[in-house]
Amino acid sequence: MGGTPEMETVVGREELELLDQQDPLDSFREQFLLPDGVLYLDGNSLGPLPVGATERAAEVVTTEWGQGLIRSWNSAGWFEMPTRLGDKLGRLLGANPGETVVTDTTSLNLFKALASALRIQQVDGPGRRVIITERDNFPTDIYIAEGLADLLNSVGAESGTTYEVKLVDNESELRAALGGDTAVVSLSHVNYRTGSMWDMAAINEAVHQAGALAIWDLAHAAGAVPVELNASNADYAVGCTYKYLNGGPGSPAFIWVNARHQDRFWQPLSGWWSHAAPFEMAQSYAPANDVRRFMCGTQPITSMAMVETGLDISLSADMNLLRAKSLELTDLFIELVETRCAGYGLTLVTPREHAQRGSHVSFQHPGGYAIMAALIDRGVIGDYREPEVLRFGITPLYLSRTDIWDSVEILREVLHTGSWQREEYSVRNAVT
Ligand SMILES: *Cc1c(COP(=O)(O)O)cnc(C)c1O
Repeated sequence: MGGTPEMETVVGREELELLDQQDPLDSFREQFLLPDGVLYLDGNSLGPLPVGATERAAEVVTTEWGQGLIRSWNSAGWFEMPTRLGDKLGRLLGANPGETVVTDTTSLNLFKALASALRIQQVDGPGRRVIITERDNFPTDIYIAEGLADLLNSVGAESGTTYEVKLVDNESELRAALGGDTAVVSLSHVNYRTGSMWDMAAINEAVHQAGALAIWDLAHAAGAVPVELNASNADYAVGCTYKYLNGGPGSPAFIWVNARHQDRFWQPLSGWWSHAAPFEMAQSYAPANDVRRFMCGTQPITSMAMVETGLDISLSADMNLLRAKSLELTDLFIELVETRCAGYGLTLVTPREHAQRGSHVSFQHPGGYAIMAALIDRGVIGDYREPEVLRFGITPLYLSRTDIWDSVEILREVLHTGSWQREEYSVRNAVT
């Protein structure tokens, strides 16, 4: 497709092809099974299938379950799997061994982290009853905070206890909201919709200066951007393994708890897997003095086993190279959309500043849903988020510069021909 003069870009496909050939991360593409004819720009929502995952699944089901039966809790290392994988995952997050556990879902883990942080504040900062979070946070993060506040308020109704969820829109509002009543600040490191990223170290410092605790949701950050939980002095973190870590649909999430908090208070989902000695079958609860305290009950072993295959791929890649390529690809995507798709009403909602950008790029368009449906119909798989946002996950492990070029050319064709306005593309699916 030849560009008209105003659509001239500084790069062309041939140049990008040459750059791809010199890419030290190029070979990682072979570790994923992506269908032919698909340009997958949704790895921030559900990572693709790693090559080794099918074999590992068969092993867990056929050999470990089928042959090993209940013995596999010991002989196949099932019982240790949550902490063993937690330690592996922790290496991507700047965590020390013993601080991370793979367990439950992000929503549940956030509940546990919030509850634990509020318990600490009941001792360290009585009267601190405000949870600050972002209005633009992923909905579950707000819902869980609201649910916990509601539970505490209903329990404390007679004594007049009032926990409150306060929503802020940006960093200056956050700083202004921090005060003597703030118990905890719960933020998503990378915003699920816009891709904008907080400065974790700077926020932790401000939160601590105000006497509050910081919880980070790393759903769109783990495996996507360098994270330094200990160096930045965070208190708690949670996140998914099915997004950039390629653990498979609904694979269990993780929770990280700074070592200084781990044995201070137990969390309310005090199931037997969080007990100091689960198989003593003791009459009353005594929490484990380590991060196992943040588990609840029996873990989904078949699904959890899948996490390791994806994790091993991420661990074998150099995070600095991944970040550099992610920024290069997101820059390229923005530049190509803004030049080759100029004049079609797309507005960038992702920050241009590298330090403020995660690994996905979003554009707003009133016809966003239908445009994305038309793209998916042509093999360019991204997703749509309300309101009007086309979201493109730019994962450097398996995307190349030419993939970015080809995706934008298909977007250009969809916009240029107006084919997205066909009626079939406005029909809404249950999952977008
Ligand atoms: C994807 C995502 C979640 C998902 O939570 P689940 O419990 O796995 O459904 C939570 N928080 C954020 C910020 C997310 O992006």
